[in-house]
Amino acid sequence: MGQEITASGESAAADTTFEAGCIFCSIVRGTIPATVVRKSGRTLAFRDIAPQAPAHLLVIPTTHAFANAAELAVGDPALAAELLREAGAVAAAEGLAEDGYRLVFNTGDYAGQTVDHVHLHVLGGEALGRFGVPE
Ligand code: AMP
Repeated sequence: MGQEITASGESAAADTTFEAGCIFCSIVRGTIPATVVRKSGRTLAFRDIAPQAPAHLLVIPTTHAFANAAELAVGDPALAAELLREAGAVAAAEGLAEDGYRLVFNTGDYAGQTVDHVHLHVLGGEALGRFGVPE
């Protein structure tokens, strides 16, 4: 596991669009604390506050411009690729790569999306169950 730093007090990237009331935008701005594990030019990776697996991280673009993966892929494919690359790097840094891990983009209400700022879940640390079954 890499050295952990917090986002507090650090400024957002120049291309960030900020949405008041968006929790992830506040994490990017440093006004809400998070355990940040990795940054790239336009992305941030931090630990999920309510982990659903032994390792559960989120990778987000610093911009609020895209609500979900489909919007991101159409609007900024290079940023979509950067998000996926960073997820792979985070998984490797967390020691998840050898045994495997899961990447998830929830989209919309039926998928349980609660934050309309695109985010990629990185889950692992144990054998994960099947998913997609209604609760
Ligand atoms: P989703 O349900 O796909 O929209 O995922 C949103 C995720 O954000 C959930 O897994 C939450 O636990 C996580 N989350 C919400 N607030 C915070 C926070 N302040 N810091 C870290 N993760 C958060």
